[in-house]
Amino acid sequence: MNYTDLNRLGGIGANSSLYQVGSFRFVVDSGIHPKETGKASLPLLDLLNGEPPIDFVILTHCHLDHLGSLPLLLKKYPDVPVFMSLPTRMLAGRMLRNSVNVMKRQAREQSIPEYPFFSFAEVERIEHQYEALRFDTPKVLKKGKDKLEIVLYPSGHVVGAASVLVQHEDASIFITGDILFDDQLTLPGAWIPEMQVDIVVTETTRGCTQRAKGRSREEECARLYASMSETLKGGGSCLLPVFALGRLQEIMAMLHQAMKRGDIPKSAVFSAGLGLDLVDYFDDIAKDTGLVRFRRRILHELKVGEPRYPKVPGQGSMPPGIYVLSSGMMVEHTPSYQAAATLVGSERNRIHFVGYCDPDTPGGKLRSAKQGDTVSFDAYDLNVKLRSPVEVYDLSGHADREELLKLVEGMEPEAVVLTHGDTEARSWFKEHLTQHDGSCKVLDPEPGRTYEV
Ligand SMILES: [Zn+2]
Ligand SMILES: [Zn+2]
Repeated sequence: MNYTDLNRLGGIGANSSLYQVGSFRFVVDSGIHPKETGKASLPLLDLLNGEPPIDFVILTHCHLDHLGSLPLLLKKYPDVPVFMSLPTRMLAGRMLRNSVNVMKRQAREQSIPEYPFFSFAEVERIEHQYEALRFDTPKVLKKGKDKLEIVLYPSGHVVGAASVLVQHEDASIFITGDILFDDQLTLPGAWIPEMQVDIVVTETTRGCTQRAKGRSREEECARLYASMSETLKGGGSCLLPVFALGRLQEIMAMLHQAMKRGDIPKSAVFSAGLGLDLVDYFDDIAKDTGLVRFRRRILHELKVGEPRYPKVPGQGSMPPGIYVLSSGMMVEHTPSYQAAATLVGSERNRIHFVGYCDPDTPGGKLRSAKQGDTVSFDAYDLNVKLRSPVEVYDLSGHADREELLKLVEGMEPEAVVLTHGDTEARSWFKEHLTQHDGSCKVLDPEPGRTYEV
């Protein structure tokens, strides 16, 4: 197999890789970097110019670090099929339309001339290229006498997320995609084949994060509910910044269950933005495919309302309750950013982080701030003294590093390719995989370089 990592800046970044297996060439994912803007946020799609054309694309799931530049890739290849799971096909258009809106706004506010990278019309046009595959059902592709088979397996990470098995006479390859083994309320954990393969391409998100003892998913939920109860009983508000796709719906399902069981007192719940809109899609996916456990009525039963922000951020107050708002990293101008500007100034409120935050984002900065520190909300020219306790819960959407190690070792590959992780996270995997099996080749690819694996 030939492998080229197209993720321009390495790290988690704009995921995309080019594979050549036998006579087949294909691209897995075409994301955008969540922190960068303009061209720097794109994968190295230019490298595909002048190369022989690709035969197909595989989209592992709908988070934008995997999907966000797909229309640009398909501009080069307007006829190739894009294979994905059924839920992913139901969500992709909605996620990309949201991207168009965000880019249009950024074009105005930050004057980025190349935005938007694509239009609503282009998002619609590429949908005819989408081909949904059922999980655990092989798709056979033929090219002359050459034959290749792909199978998607549910990878637990978010609704529709898939791991991919590629089988060819030359090699069998297992691509984990973003993967989570824990069961969530809305989604069962990954289900993958027990088999030997030649090459594993693995995500490495949590290579630097060891799960602390006593921090299992259940224990973290219990700790979260206890803290939220204390806040709510004291008349304060809880802010949970969440990713719109997956985490928002999971938290809503958790709150619904916790209030029913009396783990947290019945309280007002506020939400807004894309994540709330995606609830309708989750409802359809649940009805049509059974591949997610979520119904729209959860929101009705929680009586979710629109947040009411003060006219001037940071001045005034917001009604007490639970605020479940995107974005997860509190990117400027998002509902979670707007709410935080007002909520963090009171010791009665608490901020509960339940997912990954890049350290350079406003969320990441707030996470590392201490009570009494001044936190800046640059978008409003606002400095606030942090009085709310800020808490972090290990409810990651990614497998623990030990679990991934076990998965890879169980497949007894001759080679492992590392993706989707920071430099140090990859180093941890490289060291531990080599320790286990000295003959296993571990590749931490340089972006843009083609390797024979
Ligand atoms: Zn993801
Ligand atoms: Zn990802």
